[in-house]
Amino acid sequence: MPGLVYWVILVGTDRKKGCGSVISAQVSGAIEARLGEAGVREVLGSLWCGDCQICGGVLAGQDPAVSVDQLGRLVTATLAHARCRASSWDRDTLGPMAEIATLTWCTATLAADAIVAGVLRSVPVLLLNPSLEQVVLRRGEDGWAVTPRAGFLLAGLQPADQQAEKFLDRPVPGAVAGLDLDRLTLILPAMQENGIFTAPVEDPHLRALILSQGGILLVVTHVLDLSAPLTAVGLGEVLDDHRTVCGWVPLTPLS
Ligand SMILES: [Zn+2]
Repeated sequence: MPGLVYWVILVGTDRKKGCGSVISAQVSGAIEARLGEAGVREVLGSLWCGDCQICGGVLAGQDPAVSVDQLGRLVTATLAHARCRASSWDRDTLGPMAEIATLTWCTATLAADAIVAGVLRSVPVLLLNPSLEQVVLRRGEDGWAVTPRAGFLLAGLQPADQQAEKFLDRPVPGAVAGLDLDRLTLILPAMQENGIFTAPVEDPHLRALILSQGGILLVVTHVLDLSAPLTAVGLGEVLDDHRTVCGWVPLTPLS
């Protein structure tokens, strides 16, 4: 059976603060009417309690609200405290501008076994959630859905699936990863802003694996906040999800 399969060990995460799933949030009637029940559920399942995108304060346990901003074809759903921004669907505006807050990204590194051309291969994986508090929405035939940020697709990443051989050893153009003693630095120049991410690589076996493979499989997703260890089933679900994109990032010396 081709694809990424079985064991997974989460060896460390980089994230700014404690976060967690959005169990409940204020959702306006306009958002509910446009997204529908399934759409609201998907948005809430793709947002995580990082920082309020108005005041910059922590969101966990602080009455979050989801607002949607529709600016031309760009549609985003963003979290804030309900007291900072009541839930609304706003058209042709950028929404209230945050003075302090920035989107929170988080990373994790792990190893997964893949069967490539019938041969078992251990693959280093870098998981990245690029924005805990915001997702991009796209309207399809079945209504609104969360979609990967266009910047990652423009950077050369592709929609994920479990067929590992589609991605392994086929570098994303321009993307590089540098490894020092305990940390991996990922650079995606095509993303222009916010194209640099770091992840811990403290496990010597994982470090050796990255060096021997000459790169790492980058998995960008909104499905996880990366604060809890993944199971193999969890990784499979992430790779099967339409909110996930993948690409192979070659290792290169950092200057
Ligand atoms: Zn706030």
